[in-house]
Amino acid sequence: MSGSGSYRARIRRLQHSLRLGGPIAVLAAAVLFPAVLIATVGIVALALWESPKDLVLGVLALALSAAAVSGAIIVVVLLGRRARLARLQSDLLGNVSHELKTPLAAIRMYAETLQSGAVANDPKLVQECLDVIVRETEWLQSMIERLLTWRAAARDRAALDLVCEPVSGAVQDVARRFSRMFRPGEVELTVSAETALPVRHDRTALESVLLNLLVNAYKYTGKDKRIALGATDRDGRVEIAVADNGIGIPLEEQGRIFEPFHRVESNGSAAGGAGLGLAIVDVTVRAMRGTVRVESQVGRGSTFTVSFPAAGGGK
Ligand code: ADP
Repeated sequence: MSGSGSYRARIRRLQHSLRLGGPIAVLAAAVLFPAVLIATVGIVALALWESPKDLVLGVLALALSAAAVSGAIIVVVLLGRRARLARLQSDLLGNVSHELKTPLAAIRMYAETLQSGAVANDPKLVQECLDVIVRETEWLQSMIERLLTWRAAARDRAALDLVCEPVSGAVQDVARRFSRMFRPGEVELTVSAETALPVRHDRTALESVLLNLLVNAYKYTGKDKRIALGATDRDGRVEIAVADNGIGIPLEEQGRIFEPFHRVESNGSAAGGAGLGLAIVDVTVRAMRGTVRVESQVGRGSTFTVSFPAAGGGK
């Protein structure tokens, strides 16, 4: 079979696995109808009981129909789970492709502008094109890192390289990286790292957590973007907060946003995303013995706070 043929066959299988109506109708006809008939026979045999044979027949018929119905229920539950998994996978593919398309299109457009030579005589415009290409590449990289982290976490292979030191270095580094992802002046970013307590953490993992939160703060904020990243020591813990003046999250959604694939449809999740960022944040922070919480008000903004116990020292 050719490559595209087998690809089409896979898509057909996936579409097929998403449809549950057919199997349920077959089960209803092939199992439930006979099971009801057998149960009726059993009930009649028990009701008209004249000899021990009727008792045995009645009990056997009822047991048989109960077994058939339980089997059918188990099959429907398993089919439902499989269909849900297939739907999640296809949603994930769709959302990820959508998210990757925007920065790729921008990179291509600005690279082609440079290639055409149209701006070659204007060093300022050349610099602007290069800036956009670098910025969009940062977005691409952060998305790909997020997917790889999720894949590792899902397979329980997220190995952490723990060090014991204050988080100020990670905070400053991630702020520098984040500020390369938007145009100068587009975001009012304030950064503070007033922390001296050591924390047992994996620096790359912590930076990816903070970058996820900063990217969300950017995505879910209107034109006037004010984002604050700050780390402080509080009661033997180190707290790192990412605050924005964005659209906020309704109270009833705040407990669910950390679930994989959960997106708040009412608050502009059209901004694009796979619904994995906060699930990765939660898993990664817990792996480092920390916690993450959110405070948010619709229309005013959100603050995500990651909190770690301070460590005693040493690696
Ligand atoms: P996504 O890829 O959709 O951004 P996340 O897991 O990072 O996935 O976030 C889950 C949902 O939580 C988002 O779809 C969005 O609705 C909401 N959300 C996350 N961060 C913020 C924020 N800073 N402000 C408002 N809503 C947010």
